[in-house]
Amino acid sequence: MKEINLTQFESEVLNGGKVILDFYSTECPPCDALAPKFEALNELFGKEVKFLKIFRQENRELAEKLGVSSSPTVLFFEDGKEVGFRLNGGIKRSELFEGLKIILGKERVKEIKSEIKPLTTYCDVAILGAGPGGLTAGLYLCQAKIDAVVIDVALPGGHVSTTHQVSNYPGFIDPQPGYMLSHNMSEQTKRCGTTYKVAVDVSRVDLEKKEILIDEYETIKAKKIIIATGTKYNLLNIPGESELKGNGISYCATCDAKYFIDKEVMVIGGGNSAIEEADFISKFASKITIVHQFDKLQANKQAQEKVFTNSKIDFIFEHEPRSFKKVAGKIVTEIEELKSGKRKTIETDGVFIFIGMKPNLDMFPKGLELDKWGYINTDEDMRTNIDGVFAVGDVGSKKYRQITTAIADGTIAAIAITKELDQ
Ligand SMILES: Cc1cc2nc3c(=O)[nH]c(=O)nc-3n(C[C@H](O)[C@H](O)[C@H](O)COP(=O)(O)OP(=O)(O)OC[C@H]3O[C@@H](n4cnc5c(N)ncnc54)[C@H](O)[C@@H]3O)c2cc1C
Repeated sequence: MKEINLTQFESEVLNGGKVILDFYSTECPPCDALAPKFEALNELFGKEVKFLKIFRQENRELAEKLGVSSSPTVLFFEDGKEVGFRLNGGIKRSELFEGLKIILGKERVKEIKSEIKPLTTYCDVAILGAGPGGLTAGLYLCQAKIDAVVIDVALPGGHVSTTHQVSNYPGFIDPQPGYMLSHNMSEQTKRCGTTYKVAVDVSRVDLEKKEILIDEYETIKAKKIIIATGTKYNLLNIPGESELKGNGISYCATCDAKYFIDKEVMVIGGGNSAIEEADFISKFASKITIVHQFDKLQANKQAQEKVFTNSKIDFIFEHEPRSFKKVAGKIVTEIEELKSGKRKTIETDGVFIFIGMKPNLDMFPKGLELDKWGYINTDEDMRTNIDGVFAVGDVGSKKYRQITTAIADGTIAAIAITKELDQ
């Protein structure tokens, strides 16, 4: 893979025809996750597209001139002009294909893709999900010398990586930034030697055969599977929500609160997540209105005390949102008073929705036994009803969903599997 610097930028990129340029850094897990995908696509497309890397830390001047502020950032060029979109963070192979289509054309990409040879990777245990549950299972299995592969559709870390601060994870005197805690968990498991396949598309899962197809060409064949896919945010499913998602409506305060400095926002929900996150958002926003369907909050007393004494936070109880619209840059939320059915609108700069979670199970074929809320039933060793398939963490049926309970599940499943494989 050719590496360039500032002085070669003109000859290699601006006069270079069709180019993909990767600004990377060292000590950058998402850059490490991208590297093998970039190499593999260079081998496939290298005759027609130039794949180049540039070390961002040593070429800051160029990075700043191009507005590249994070690593990795991938840019596409054609005849000296940047085209299409930029990719950053956990970059998937499928996203690189989309960029290639812009500079090579859909048909040519399809032709070259058809030359990709399917690949089969064998392992003892395939772990779907690299949150605290999956990473802990990976760590224990690795330390027991069991060949485990951790697969995630995103970068490792799960919900912890987008939690502002974690104060209830034992072993730390002070609250820990969630992204640091998840980074440490991920690096610990990776350094042990567990194989990572992250920021991939999980195309198909066959739990009976223990086969997982990723990125449409690599089949992971395992003796056991651990499902550790966690949960995702519930949607309100009302008009305007999907259209304004990421454009005024958010489900992640850690990710988006910073865009609302001195602005007014609405928070929908009244459980722990909503209340903790509203308190966090109040560090940025000038005013927060919490809209909740019941006549009191469901969050624990400690969280409630914080928001009731926070002068930036107001409450509207016994109301539910009915629709969202964007008008002149503001989000107009229509809310209904549940007792009277009367509706009114409230205008804010943004809306955060925290109304609970549901398990990430969409990709699994039917056959898994679930509880009445749709979470996976397991025995005390985390075994599901399907032979050789385990479920750990938030995706499983349980009363309390916390980091500590997810890592406990991961530990139990890994030890149970180790014993089974050793027999
Ligand atoms: C806003 C918020 C704040 C929180 N604060 C705290 C706190 O302060 N303390 C605490 O103890 N707990 C807290 N929690 C709860 C805690 O984060 C979870 O209990 C914990 O992360 C569960 O871990 P997990 O491994 O089961 O799942 P997750 O952390 O959800 O990780 C699941 C992983 O699976 C991946 N995945 C999803 N679908 C697939 C697929 N098809 N294939 C492969 N991978 C997939 C996801 O990308 C993700 O990386 C908080 C949760 C939220 C949402």
